[in-house]
Amino acid sequence: MDLELIQEMVKQALEELKSENVDFNQVSNYGVFENIDDAIQASCKAQRELFTFSPQKRNEFANEIRKVIIKKENLEMLSREAVEETGIGRYEDKIKKNYVAAVKTPGIEDLKTNAMTGEDGITLEEYCPFGVIGSITPTTNPTETIISNSISMIIGGNSVVFSPHPRAKKTSIKIIQLINKALEKIGAPKNLITMVKEPSIDNTNKMISNPNVRLLVATGGPGIVKTVLSSGKKAIGAGAGNPPVVVDETADIEQAGRDIVLGSSFDNNVPCIAEKEVFVVDSVCDSLIYYMKKNGAYEITDKNKVLELQNLVCQENGKPKTEFVGKDAKYILERIGINVDDSVRLIIFKTYKEHHLVQEEMMMPILPIVPCDNVDDAIEYAYEAEHGNRHTAIMHSKNIDKLSKMAKYLECTIFVKNAPSYAGIGVGGEGSTTFTIAGPTGEGITSAKSFCRIRRCAMKDSFNIR
Ligand code: NAD
Repeated sequence: MDLELIQEMVKQALEELKSENVDFNQVSNYGVFENIDDAIQASCKAQRELFTFSPQKRNEFANEIRKVIIKKENLEMLSREAVEETGIGRYEDKIKKNYVAAVKTPGIEDLKTNAMTGEDGITLEEYCPFGVIGSITPTTNPTETIISNSISMIIGGNSVVFSPHPRAKKTSIKIIQLINKALEKIGAPKNLITMVKEPSIDNTNKMISNPNVRLLVATGGPGIVKTVLSSGKKAIGAGAGNPPVVVDETADIEQAGRDIVLGSSFDNNVPCIAEKEVFVVDSVCDSLIYYMKKNGAYEITDKNKVLELQNLVCQENGKPKTEFVGKDAKYILERIGINVDDSVRLIIFKTYKEHHLVQEEMMMPILPIVPCDNVDDAIEYAYEAEHGNRHTAIMHSKNIDKLSKMAKYLECTIFVKNAPSYAGIGVGGEGSTTFTIAGPTGEGITSAKSFCRIRRCAMKDSFNIR
């Protein structure tokens, strides 16, 4: 499935589905609480009730979430408000991300029972709820993460207390109320997903230490992943990446140029899986740049301008300035005196492998390109720039030995071959979607089973019917 097809599906869904307005001024909290303890308490009650419903019914609840999200005005409102509130990303790309989160997060089929029978009877192993899950969500995918995690966690029989980034507070409140309202209408327990009205680090820490929260899921940078992993509770960490792309001389360079621009500029480079630096074999470097420019990249050739760019977007400690994260390429270029039209989606420049913008995860549509003597050097430099995150890497090549070498050497959770990075989360590639890619703790592409406990049930002697 390619992007155009997704776009077409979104368009169709928008046309087909009737609107339903939610009045957020109604005197009802629909999952949003003044204080975190109340949000957790309501979540406990909701989870106990949810556990009385069959897994098939939970799947229906999840399907209701899918339905409400892909309604025209909801999809548009959430996508628009996420961009407006956080100042991050592109509206049309948020539409695509929210849509795939709703339709491509796996359903009940993800939870397969393991049955063992023999002369001693039958033993079942099943995916069961943890209970109340505390899910911490990032500014970069504020609604996508809530959509995908709500679906997966509820199918698993859990309720969720979300802890959104304070800069995505209003949008998170809206989506949580929207989902709860839709779920209540079809008879689901109230408050299956909750949050506190004023998210803060203090509230997140209270949630982390509350004994009623049984599983923690952190989708964000290294700080929050470390915090949940130090909590003494079961925790799933979906952390930072700095995905490198390697292009060798056997690749289809025209396709590589197009795919890299598409992937790297998707939602202005904020997805943790997006291409963040390129290592290309020198002999095909200029050709690659040529095709990137044909597909919406703007090349800066003046070294002083590159320095100006770096000084503009980096803080003194080298970290990205928040005000430039997820901004349009056109906006960033204007700030260094370069005026371009709206077709420019990505800023590129040739540089050396140690360059700061190569090594740092910037989350802006800025893609440094490093020419390398040969593919083995390119793979080595990619390994270094990935910093052992083992998150995502991309390679454009027809040489299966080198593709295999890079896949094994970098050990990434997602390795995409000959496609834009988003093929790795089911957009234009096979497989399901998630916005919680758990590299550090090993769950990988999370789904309902990632948020479940496996429990065993044994019956002696009977029910072996073979
Ligand atoms: P962030 O780490 O600043 O914030 C993520 C969440 O953690 C927010 O809700 C924030 O409020 C909270 N948080 C951060 N530090 C905290 C602390 N000390 N105590 C309590 N709460 C804290 O990240 P962000 O800028 O919102 O998102 C971008 C980062 O997330 C990037 O590094 C990106 O790679 C990563 N990310 C990873 C995935 C994945 O699936 N692996 C998905 C999306 C984003």
